[in-house]
Amino acid sequence: MTLLDQARQSSNVIDGSRINKNLELSADICVIGSGAGGAVAAHTLVTAGKDVLIVEEGGYFSHLDFSMNEAEVYPKLYQEGLQRATQDLGIAILQGRAVGGTTVVNWTTCFRTPEDVVDHWRTHHHVGGFKLADIIPHYEWIEDRLCMQKVPKEQMNPNNRKLFEGCKALGWQVDTIKRNVYACMNSGYCGMGCPYNAKRSMLVTLIPDAITSGARLLFRCRIDRLVENNNGIDHAEGTLLTTDGYHTRTETVRIKAKHFIVAGGAINSPALLLRSGINDHDRVGKRTFFHPSIVSVGLYDDPIEAYYGAPQSAASHHFSHRSENVGFFLEAAPLHPVLASTALPGFGFDHHENMKPFSHIAPHTALTIDGFHSDLPGGQVTLRPSGTPLINYPLTPALWESFRFAQKRLAQAQFASGAKSVMTLHDPPLVMRSPNNIADIDEQPFETCRIGVFSAHQMGGCGMGDNHQTAVVRSEDLRHHRLSNLYVMDGSVFPTSLGVNPQQSIYGLVRLMASRLVERIT
Ligand SMILES: Cc1cc2nc3c(=O)[nH]c(=O)nc-3n(C[C@H](O)[C@H](O)[C@H](O)COP(=O)(O)OP(=O)(O)OC[C@H]3O[C@@H](n4cnc5c(N)ncnc54)[C@H](O)[C@@H]3O)c2cc1C
Ligand code: SF4
Repeated sequence: MTLLDQARQSSNVIDGSRINKNLELSADICVIGSGAGGAVAAHTLVTAGKDVLIVEEGGYFSHLDFSMNEAEVYPKLYQEGLQRATQDLGIAILQGRAVGGTTVVNWTTCFRTPEDVVDHWRTHHHVGGFKLADIIPHYEWIEDRLCMQKVPKEQMNPNNRKLFEGCKALGWQVDTIKRNVYACMNSGYCGMGCPYNAKRSMLVTLIPDAITSGARLLFRCRIDRLVENNNGIDHAEGTLLTTDGYHTRTETVRIKAKHFIVAGGAINSPALLLRSGINDHDRVGKRTFFHPSIVSVGLYDDPIEAYYGAPQSAASHHFSHRSENVGFFLEAAPLHPVLASTALPGFGFDHHENMKPFSHIAPHTALTIDGFHSDLPGGQVTLRPSGTPLINYPLTPALWESFRFAQKRLAQAQFASGAKSVMTLHDPPLVMRSPNNIADIDEQPFETCRIGVFSAHQMGGCGMGDNHQTAVVRSEDLRHHRLSNLYVMDGSVFPTSLGVNPQQSIYGLVRLMASRLVERIT
């Protein structure tokens, strides 16, 4: 029996969809959300002997549920059934919703936070509560626990190898990346939940560790609001959901706790604070960052089969620092039929033609590094009348300049690795037959909804910093500036984006801060 099976059968686990009465629960610490931040926080606290209750709105799945059928798993495992987007539909937002959070569907790329990013936070965002050196032991611990290993070059799939070779041919920095996997079968299905339990997500590592150490888990329960009392949070109120997770039920939950840790991820954590009327100095939901990403599709003579193999095994940070302009980094993206058919442009016959060479196309992406440029303030989370998050993200001239520049670099790299044509995701797309056509990118409309823009990395919205007028939580402990028992421990606390894939940054920072909380409440 796996650790996950043991945990799922534990009497510590409550399926909210099966409870037919209103629930009253209590705990020393209530952790809301069970993704990268919530799982690490809960694990750190419970293994230090604390009484922890984790609450998660998503379902509690196992590898048997991960059917590798896109139509079935996307609605189950993603926020808004993979339909989350900005209000103007300019950016499609991919974000997980399950026990284990987005780590259940992520592509397993691991990077520590770059030192210059932490320096920037200190000098520009009053982040004085820790040094990068304080996080290093926590990075080392998580690297060991999640089996993070650099991918050997020979294990790159053709999709990643084309990116790697293109960058190399042009003399650009590129390297293989670390992945958090054990006995990976290179199936390529990371984005649909790993069917082999090879991905060391929170679902199969720290959540079961936490449950077998005594943490309780209530899933299929959405926390609607936190209720204040005397400069702290008195209790949380939530709603139980149906088995499929789509609908609310009439049954409710009320949770009393000494400490509340919000870990619903960027977008949902600020939304919860806003629903609770917690918005001191009007900072909550502001400075939301996405690593907004564009894609270039290279068509090759040899098969690429971007649906097989480790989804990501190479990355180039050659263009991360562009002095006055917005930097970006380059990675490959996996491609499966449903995702491809929604991302590739055209209708009817045109769409059919774009889909035809499916097994020979390589999607490579440029992820822009938002939060550092004065013309790129990031997005804003507010609330719809229903209380669900409404997301706006202005696509500014600085970002369009970066997209245009990056689109040309991606095309260059794809031609350099042997692409016979390269296509943009404009509507209609630009198809380039040779490097001589790359200049045609300058004629293309870089405008909202005229080109596909995506985000798989959400950060910010509850930014940390030591100035209570500009930050939501303190940087020494991620505690709310005013409310004495409220913490935010997830990707929403970053004051900028990271310039690297976020999961390891969240694991490391949260483990440091949860360890500090253990000391404080001992
Ligand atoms: C397709 C995809 C691929 C990715 N690939 C990578 C990668 O290769 N490497 C990498 O570093 N990062 C990757 N990421 C991003 C990374 O996984 C996330 O940045 C990270 O998991 C975020 O952690 P978090 O704790 O902020 O939130 P999450 O992991 O999203 O967890 C938040 C959880 O809280 C729950 N929740 C929210 N609100 C409530 C509420 N009110 N009540 C109860 N529960 C609530 C949500 O359902 C969710 O399960 C990828 C993301 C996607 C979508
Ligand atoms: S590529 Fe590896 S980690 Fe990803 S789903 Fe397949 S077996 Fe799991």
